[in-house]
Amino acid sequence: MRRIAVVGGSLAGLHAAEALRERGFEGDVTLISAENELPYDRPPLSKEALLNDVPVDRLSLRAPQWYADNAITTRLGNAAARLDTAGRTVLLDDGTTVDYDGLVIATGSRARRLSSTENAPPVQVLRSIEDSLRLRERLRPGRHLVLIGAGFIGLEIAATARQWGLDVTIVEVGTVPLSRVLGDEVGAWFRALHARNGVEIVCTCTVEAIDRLGDGAVLTLSNGRVLNADVVVAGIGASPVTEWLDGSGVPTTDGVVCHSDLSTSVPGVAAAGDVARWYNPLFDEEIRVEHWTNAVEQGRRAAHTLLGHGEAFSAVPYFWTDQYEARMRFVGRASAASEVAVKELDDDRLVALYGRDGLIRGAVCVNAPRELVRYRTAIRDQVLWGDVTETPSAIGG
Ligand code: FAD
Repeated sequence: MRRIAVVGGSLAGLHAAEALRERGFEGDVTLISAENELPYDRPPLSKEALLNDVPVDRLSLRAPQWYADNAITTRLGNAAARLDTAGRTVLLDDGTTVDYDGLVIATGSRARRLSSTENAPPVQVLRSIEDSLRLRERLRPGRHLVLIGAGFIGLEIAATARQWGLDVTIVEVGTVPLSRVLGDEVGAWFRALHARNGVEIVCTCTVEAIDRLGDGAVLTLSNGRVLNADVVVAGIGASPVTEWLDGSGVPTTDGVVCHSDLSTSVPGVAAAGDVARWYNPLFDEEIRVEHWTNAVEQGRRAAHTLLGHGEAFSAVPYFWTDQYEARMRFVGRASAASEVAVKELDDDRLVALYGRDGLIRGAVCVNAPRELVRYRTAIRDQVLWGDVTETPSAIGG
């Protein structure tokens, strides 16, 4: 293998490129990115970089010199438009091509948008540096921010906006925030956290209409309420970026379908990060994960697989979110859980476990770092559900 192209210049793509060099690959490595910036970190975009004036280069994952030192060719501001797997060529949107022997697909996901009509007011999303800077410009004390969707990004923006001194209302279709991901009891804890911090979350409700009013908007909700907003942001999830693969033969179904070692059914092509859907043997499930740590680890693993050192990727998913004083850490899987056990619950701390098939599968820990380590080990070791719910000491810690 002489030439490896990595499409998607963010977390997974960068770590794939880095792992190729660390494993001694001496051929050409080309990192192709639709964005103009060198790979940067996204988690701060809804947290510290939305609150403070953080210079863009402080968000960079590697200094510019790193790319030169590691002989990584970057093609910034160039989206891959099409993939020809027979000819092993990536066609870019400026009409140029990049030939490859091995390819890592790391095009991540993009924020879902509300469908918009001609005269509708702007509804912002938050995915890129540009989105974050544009939103920060509009966060001013005393303004009213309406967020559509109480997922993690929406809740983080709400917490940051409260620090800016905005009034914040969230409209959420579910019965509580995060109920689909973490269940009703944990979702209710997050709702109470935000209520204590002055955020109203209007649940079981949708936005029926958004009309322009001056520089702001008027939202009509399905419960009949009308909200005036200075700023409107949609946090309604993200979708994997795969349309450039249409017709290439690389299988896609809500993400790039991979084998457990992140290779695809097309020779020489692997995928990593938010865009990859793979069979995780630990959970006996095909999953796609939009978490920071997963993108790092999968980028590395996809590179190893291309170099012929493939192994099943069976990491325990890990996700964090920081809202006000709550440091929430989540390990494993909760969405397919058949059992939930809340072990601790007060205003400052929360520990809840998720089980399926008689095993512990997931744990959410707020301000509980020791429990996180303990349950992460239990998930990896496939400890019986009864052992963690009845005799927690059986798993140490
Ligand atoms: P992405 O980061 O989505 O990068 C994909 C890259 O590919 C982008 O640069 C994109 O422009 C580029 N691209 C797309 N299409 C093409 C194309 N056709 N050609 C070339 N390039 C293309 N995770 C956590 O665990 N904890 C957090 O607290 C947390 N906070 C977050 C806050 C925000 C605001 C956001 C947006 C995400 C957050 N995440 C968090 C999720 C985490 O950042 C993602 O899981 C991670 O960025 C995924 O990395 P990736 O490289 O797979 O994809």
